[in-house]
Amino acid sequence: MSNYDVLIIGAGPGGYVCAIRAAQLGLKTACVEGRGALGGTCLNVGCIPSKALLHSSHMFHEARHNFGKMGIKLGKASFDWSEMLAYKNQTIKANTSGIEYLFKKNGVEWLKGWGRIVEKGVVEVDGQRCEAKNIVIATGSEPAELSGVAVDEKSVVTSTGALELETVPEKLVVIGAGVIGLELGSVFSRLGSEVVFLEYLDSIAAGMDIEVSKAFQRLLKRQGMTFVLGAEVKSVEKSDGKQTVHYGLRSGSDVLQESADVVLLATGRSPVAKGLGLENVGVAISAKGFVSKDDQMRTSAPGVYAIGDATEGPMLAHKAEDEGMAAAESIAGQAGHVNYNVIPSVIYTHPEVASIGRSEQELKSQGIEFKAGNFSFRGNGRAKATFASDGMVKILADAGSDRVLGCHILGPAAGELVHEVAVAMEFGAAAEDLARTCHAHPTYSEAVREAALACGDGPIHS
Ligand code: NAD
Repeated sequence: MSNYDVLIIGAGPGGYVCAIRAAQLGLKTACVEGRGALGGTCLNVGCIPSKALLHSSHMFHEARHNFGKMGIKLGKASFDWSEMLAYKNQTIKANTSGIEYLFKKNGVEWLKGWGRIVEKGVVEVDGQRCEAKNIVIATGSEPAELSGVAVDEKSVVTSTGALELETVPEKLVVIGAGVIGLELGSVFSRLGSEVVFLEYLDSIAAGMDIEVSKAFQRLLKRQGMTFVLGAEVKSVEKSDGKQTVHYGLRSGSDVLQESADVVLLATGRSPVAKGLGLENVGVAISAKGFVSKDDQMRTSAPGVYAIGDATEGPMLAHKAEDEGMAAAESIAGQAGHVNYNVIPSVIYTHPEVASIGRSEQELKSQGIEFKAGNFSFRGNGRAKATFASDGMVKILADAGSDRVLGCHILGPAAGELVHEVAVAMEFGAAAEDLARTCHAHPTYSEAVREAALACGDGPIHS
């Protein structure tokens, strides 16, 4: 029987970061993972593989639509889907083996198998008992089910199956225009699929600042994707190699249908908290099935912590990573802390969309007086030179103090630009602080500065 200071169940971004941080703090650490590779959903079947396919399909799109405009002559660009998948798989391998290297470097033991808490301080890993002073639940999430929709990961797929399709479908129907649907829908649209989204809500990318969401939808529509909003999917019927998606519009009573070669179910994810023996030590679970925890990642059971998608909050790898660091620090007696007000979120489409802090609709509903500074990438020289002038930066600042309350970016490298604002918000900066900071020219970042200027006397380039 092995004895550890910390034993983490799950080696996704939450679990593996927690393990490395715990080892850095001098704790004897092990991480249980039953998947054949470290890195969890994110590295194996989520963020990383989808980014590889987003990159390759974007390059294909650029080769077809923009290379000629810059004088690059390649003939007719084409692609080989199986080679794209091989590139995606190599990207996964490079990342997962990187985590194995980091475990070895930091002295973290990988316990191969599925873990289950059997009693206080004891986790069984495939029948083997391991003792630990502290246990961290980092078991992540899995695709949510939808009644009437039977997933076979071949013709009716979740994101996992979409990353392994044998061929590029002629027509893809995506149920849910959230982050997963929009990213994977973009991949297949660029590769020639007809892509139709059926979305329950009246806007895409739920929760996003509504002005940005509308502009984003317009751009995706221009790329050829179709959106049916206010559509509630009831069932998917399979026959003769075709799928028929039955749905109703929230505004009417008719049952409508859409046929497809492949259906992607992307209606959210559910926490993984069952089968872990949490009841054996009295870990409380919320009504929605999440593991309950406090600000220091402590569950209701002494010595048991929880982080990441298995707990409430945005299901984002970086939120899980921060919670992993905080859990390790709490266990080591430090003040583990996560600032939930400053967690960026990014959709890796083209253009990218990134946001941080509060949206305009949130500020209105909270009765907070604010000013909005908008700047279009049409006024940004770098963006004009790179066919990337679609989109905008929007900064929301407190009307009285000028403190930055939120930022929403639709445009080139939005997922990178947003971090300037993240740092500003961590330091409690005012929009004027961003506006008075010298930004190199020509960069996309200048658009952030211009939006900050728009919160004051006005931008220069619009
Ligand atoms: P989501 O919650 O982002 O979107 C799901 C969408 O499905 C919602 O808009 C919802 O209204 C819609 N929907 C639900 N039931 C429906 C029905 N019956 N008919 C039609 N539409 C329906 O979920 P997701 O896109 O599946 O992503 C899951 C999680 O993974 C999210 O928390 C997301 O943040 C995370 N994720 C993040 C990234 C990223 O950060 N880039 C990438 C992928 C996934």
